Amino acid sequence: MLRKLGKDEEARLASLDALEALGGLNDDAFHNVLDMTCMLLDLPGCLIYLFGVQRIWIKAKKNIELEVIHYDSPLFNFVRYSDGPLVCEDVLQDPRFAADPMATGKTPIRQFIAIPLRTAEGYVIGAVCVINGEPGRFPEFKTDQLNNMATIVTELIEAQSEIGLVDAVTHFPNRQRLMGDLKQLLPEQGEFVLILIDTLDIKYVYEIARSFGMAEVESVFHDIGHFLKTTFMNEQMIYAISLGRFALILQAEKLNRYIGHMENFADRMQREVRSIVPLKLDFYAGYVWFSPPCTHPPELLRMATSALHDAIDGRGTIAAYNESKDATRKFNLNMLNDLAESLNQQSGLYLVFQPKVILATRKIIGAEALLRWQHPTLGEIQPDAFIPMAESTSLIKLLTEFVIAHSVIEAQRLRQLGITIPISINISANNFAEQGFADKLDNLVRAGGLQPQDIEIECLETQRILESCEALACVKALRQRGYAIALDDFGTGYSNLNYLRNIPADLIKIDRSLIENLRTDHDSRVIVQSLIKMLHDLNYVVLAEGVEDRETLNYLEQYQCDVIQGYFYSPPMKLERLIALIDAEQDGMLASCPDED
Ligand code: C2E
Ligand code: CA
Ligand code: CA
Repeated sequence: MLRKLGKDEEARLASLDALEALGGLNDDAFHNVLDMTCMLLDLPGCLIYLFGVQRIWIKAKKNIELEVIHYDSPLFNFVRYSDGPLVCEDVLQDPRFAADPMATGKTPIRQFIAIPLRTAEGYVIGAVCVINGEPGRFPEFKTDQLNNMATIVTELIEAQSEIGLVDAVTHFPNRQRLMGDLKQLLPEQGEFVLILIDTLDIKYVYEIARSFGMAEVESVFHDIGHFLKTTFMNEQMIYAISLGRFALILQAEKLNRYIGHMENFADRMQREVRSIVPLKLDFYAGYVWFSPPCTHPPELLRMATSALHDAIDGRGTIAAYNESKDATRKFNLNMLNDLAESLNQQSGLYLVFQPKVILATRKIIGAEALLRWQHPTLGEIQPDAFIPMAESTSLIKLLTEFVIAHSVIEAQRLRQLGITIPISINISANNFAEQGFADKLDNLVRAGGLQPQDIEIECLETQRILESCEALACVKALRQRGYAIALDDFGTGYSNLNYLRNIPADLIKIDRSLIENLRTDHDSRVIVQSLIKMLHDLNYVVLAEGVEDRETLNYLEQYQCDVIQGYFYSPPMKLERLIALIDAEQDGMLASCPDED
């Protein structure tokens, strides 16, 4: 820290204050030096003081009663502005100091010798001094010896102020040091960018550590650090801010000079960093522009980290900080937090149900449970706005548990009213892949007094289920226990019929995106018609989702689709309304769709 301060006197003093305030210097070491000095030089007493912004700190003392040093004492400040030591054999006889209240105070000072503590860059940060209540001669050889002691004390201070500021593995300055250095940049120095660099996937790093030991990992990082330093930006300070992650502060106008080359860094590192372990080195960088003063370095680091993750998430080798993306991410994180809170409190989340209707008879043969969230401040939020987010975290587990538990409760209510239609629930690949999921679901269903035929399972993301052995095994296990399986959103993404045979299913839901074009698009009609025919040939029951109008319904009737779901018959609704709808149907009031004549 001290070495870095250069000519900025105020910052240097402030940093000494900070060191003192934080107890950054180990007092024992200074006391030992003083003991040794007094003994070797046969001195009655000795003291080390340091200059701060608004005070002079007594760092250590031996046989001296002095408690406080006046900040503007001419005697104590003399070395600050002189080239060499001060040897004053009788203070009261010296016109420069005779009026100094320190000389005539509680601890009278007649003999005063001060040797400046001068840093490697030549700045005086304090002094080692000898104080005596009596005037007397001070031989030159003792001044020389004291000079040597002062050098040792300065080095001790410099070394100790560096401790905690250096990364133990790479010996590069660390994150604390980066924070301090960012703060010291001045407005007149122009604009800067803070760049963060990642070179290894941290999961992979732990794999290496597991097989080859931590020492090997550290040696790789050490080499990567030096590669960056020597071939990348020799003139810049490189900071090692966490395992395998580096940072540098660059003058903004130099950025373009480097950006073009970064694409090749991964390959060059791969060639140049040698290791006994199989290594796959990456190079990702994220940066943020800023103009000093940098009042809150951790926020700047956060922004650069956000940019770095944009790069890692596949948006290229190097990415700049993007405020709106960052804001969206923060918003989403807050939403996730709120969602977790809603789940925890069991408030705001509820289910609505959308009937599934047999096309030929217009009878309700089931209902799909769809999740809704009444956010405490943002109001009603649709599942598309929060479920995909929850899918990327473990929250989806809890969310699905909630849906299962509440579907079971609502199905029980239907049973009590003599209504026996199954409730369908939406389950994603992540849920299926969760260990013990089939048992968990089955237990919840049976504990609620229901049977497998009371619950139908809609598989979301069929493709991902097919790609995961665990998920696929889970679907098979559930079907074996008697749960009906539906494949959701068929016709979106990659829907290979042959592939489909690998997943056991009873019903296929043709996605709304195909159904919604039936009215207007001839090709969609050809596709849907042949899809239905093929699915029938393969013995599936076929459901068309998102049926919104009479014309669409007519086409589906013509193609002999089995079941329909959509706003034309009914939107998703609360259970009470569903019960009323089923009652009306049983009373014969709904032999046709609501707005059919
Ligand atoms: P999905 O499973 O395909 O659900 C059908 C979506 O289409 C529902 O939207 C439903 O309200 C909507 N819909 C039904 N009929 C029509 C129609 O005629 N026209 C139009 N335009 N839309 C119609 P919702 O409820 O917003 O759900 C969207 C997606 O969120 C669902 O798609 C499903 O993937 C997911 N989701 C909903 N609830 C759950 C849940 O409990 N668990 C999981 N994992 N995902 C859920
Ligand atoms: Ca569904
Ligand atoms: Ca769907």
